[in-house]
Amino acid sequence: MENVKPTTLMQAIRYYADADNALGEVADSRWAMGVVCQHCGAEKPMFLKTRRIWKCSKCRKQFSIKTKSVFEDSPIPLDKWLTATWMIANCKNGISSYEIAKAIGVTQKTAWFMLHRVRLAMQDEKTGGKLGGSGNGVEVDETFIGGKARNMHAAEKARKIQGRRGPEGKAIVAAVLERGGKVRAKVIDRRRKTQLQALVRDNVEPKSALYSDALKSYDGLSEEYAHQVVDHAIEYVRENCHTNGLENFWSLLKRGINGTYVSVEPYHLFRYVDEQAFRFNNREDRTDFDRFKLLLSGIVGKRLTYDALIGSGKELETATC
Ligand SMILES: [Zn+2]
Repeated sequence: MENVKPTTLMQAIRYYADADNALGEVADSRWAMGVVCQHCGAEKPMFLKTRRIWKCSKCRKQFSIKTKSVFEDSPIPLDKWLTATWMIANCKNGISSYEIAKAIGVTQKTAWFMLHRVRLAMQDEKTGGKLGGSGNGVEVDETFIGGKARNMHAAEKARKIQGRRGPEGKAIVAAVLERGGKVRAKVIDRRRKTQLQALVRDNVEPKSALYSDALKSYDGLSEEYAHQVVDHAIEYVRENCHTNGLENFWSLLKRGINGTYVSVEPYHLFRYVDEQAFRFNNREDRTDFDRFKLLLSGIVGKRLTYDALIGSGKELETATC
């Protein structure tokens, strides 16, 4: 097989069906500087080709591509993991566990676990420097998501209402967006000054141009930012002062949630928000392969412990999407 990297989903499926290609891709993402022993850290372990595992020449122990990674203890073969990762990285509006299950031939429950692990990798987007360096200005806004309380069973309803946020059982997502740049979004409890202003201060360079609507919670930011307010009761755009960039992100987020997922509990919402932010932030200047590789390095570069996965596994029992 010629060793040209895939550019489409179909090519990816074919390419990673070759066990050596799949192993090579994950190894490259995990150990860019060369394979190291997962038990003692020694360099240049022996590769046992027939079994596709490594053996350390120092501590004599063996390890596989999955050892001490998010793939540990997963019986799912690498080609299915890579196909699922490709789909999650590149499906614009998100992809449900049902679709993944059908596409790669696993149960819906298994697909949900896979999706869950991959989503955790997407949370890395929050790290990095503050927004606003480009001088393009930063928008801050918040929106309400969800609220289908009428369709729930009574017990489920009681549980959800208890943890509800915002009016009518809706959850709140707040975000900052550097125009022409990246978004950082977060699920918040209430539209209080402390929460919204903390989001701004944690993520936006002081003195940046900052645009918001007339929500009182944003009052006081003008001491640290060149803050301009557009009062949506009067107008939506005043010259440069608008939050249209975030309106665009909200519509993508809502389209993803409403169109792809059966239901999203407020409890799980942050995962979908992170997923959509990842896609939004990597929408331009990247090929499908680039996005896939970026996501893959997040998955395998993140040392998720088995316990953490099992711990978070409990909540998955009730998951519907
Ligand atoms: Zn070793």
